[in-house]
Amino acid sequence: MTEAGGRWNRRGMLKLTGAGAGGLLLGGGAGAAAEGAERRRYVPPSPVDTGRVEGGKVVFPEWRGPADAPSAPPPAPLSDDQRVGFAIVGLGRLSLEEILPAFAESKQAKLTALVSGTPDKLAAVARQYGVPASSCYDYAGFDRIRDDPAIQVVYVVLPNAMHREYVERAAAAGKHVLCEKPMATSSADARAMVAACDKAGVRLMIAYRIQYQPHNRRAQRFVRDGSLGRLVGMTATNVQTVAANGAEQWRHKQALAGGGSLPDIGLYCLNTARFLTGEEPVEVWATQYSPPNDPRYAEVEETVSFTLRFPSGFVANCLTSYGARDDKHQRLNFADATIDMPNAYSYTGQQLSVTRLEEGKTARTELVIPETNQFAAELDHMAGCVRENRRPHTSGEEGVQDQLLMEAIYQSARTGRPVKLDPVEGRDAFRGPPPPELQG
Ligand code: NAD
Repeated sequence: MTEAGGRWNRRGMLKLTGAGAGGLLLGGGAGAAAEGAERRRYVPPSPVDTGRVEGGKVVFPEWRGPADAPSAPPPAPLSDDQRVGFAIVGLGRLSLEEILPAFAESKQAKLTALVSGTPDKLAAVARQYGVPASSCYDYAGFDRIRDDPAIQVVYVVLPNAMHREYVERAAAAGKHVLCEKPMATSSADARAMVAACDKAGVRLMIAYRIQYQPHNRRAQRFVRDGSLGRLVGMTATNVQTVAANGAEQWRHKQALAGGGSLPDIGLYCLNTARFLTGEEPVEVWATQYSPPNDPRYAEVEETVSFTLRFPSGFVANCLTSYGARDDKHQRLNFADATIDMPNAYSYTGQQLSVTRLEEGKTARTELVIPETNQFAAELDHMAGCVRENRRPHTSGEEGVQDQLLMEAIYQSARTGRPVKLDPVEGRDAFRGPPPPELQG
């Protein structure tokens, strides 16, 4: 029903107060309904109901009491013609399981092209996501993206050792680049990628999704605002298992992966320790282990344990492995409190609890923080940087620094000695401005 022609729509009926509305919705015969209709009176909407438009965005006044959490503002998606167009390079698990579906939750990005070396997979995925055949490329024809104005950003989601080539080719084609972690398989490659993007005048962002994840951003605020006292230590674990036949996967080939569990998943512990504090380590110690005679570990390591010492005295103890059941727990030990974060590096399911003394008793408080899609957040951050000509928060230099630190970790594990690192001045030395869309 509509309001046209004097009929009331369902919203109008619900606006009725008290018994009138109840009678109308539940009442029995036609007579009762007519009587109810007579008693109905239209109440025009107030600004509390309609909201208002500010800067092109709809906002509603808060209508819940102070005891309830305020609702987030409604999403403000860009129209299709304003969105930034992305080409996805490499149609593997991460692209198909996480990145392509995340476009549906993005507010600023759109999928405009696909790149794959497997024609039937390319055709199938293009059909699923409505990408025309003219916007599908293979690796040999990749450089033709130069002539495709619908592509503004190239997102490289290939095996680690291939990142450099495709970042450089994308930059040479005049496209901005979002590159999966780890940025490269050496600091030399990583530096070359930064130089190529600088030379071409395009933006380079490394896909460190945890820096766009709300629980980890909240933890960062606790660290930086000092409300829980000094951050003394962190225990970071990122472990998972690999199928017995995993040796065939590129992740177990040194030339393609550049290492084992460390660059693949241990990197989350390393990068998050740096991101939380904004400091850079001045010393690392490490040890590593791989089961002998296991073909999965003929070229890359299974397990690495590493310790990072930061200038403030903060120490991070990190464990990564392909040999232990999935666990992604992060614990932060402050002078006055402990933060526990199960699933800290997972795609979903993060939690954050704070344990401290309250009125003489130990209290453990679970913060209820709404989850967001980390991949959509990354796409939107990159799109915002392109639209507003900003340096990405997780810049190429951020990726170079992790490569250097991973090289120091391997050196320590190899030599059995700590490795000292040159101090880096200031905080967040390698990051662009914090993502404005995630502030507040
Ligand atoms: P995957 O093995 O599932 O996919 C890799 C894709 O590259 C496949 O489509 C494969 O066909 C293609 N490819 C092209 N040339 C290849 C070659 N010579 N050897 C092997 N594959 C080749 O891998 P993935 O899990 O999608 O990982 C891709 C990248 O994304 C890696 O850099 C990885 O570290 C990163 N990653 C990031 C996250 C995250 O949470 N941000 C999660 C998983 C993977």
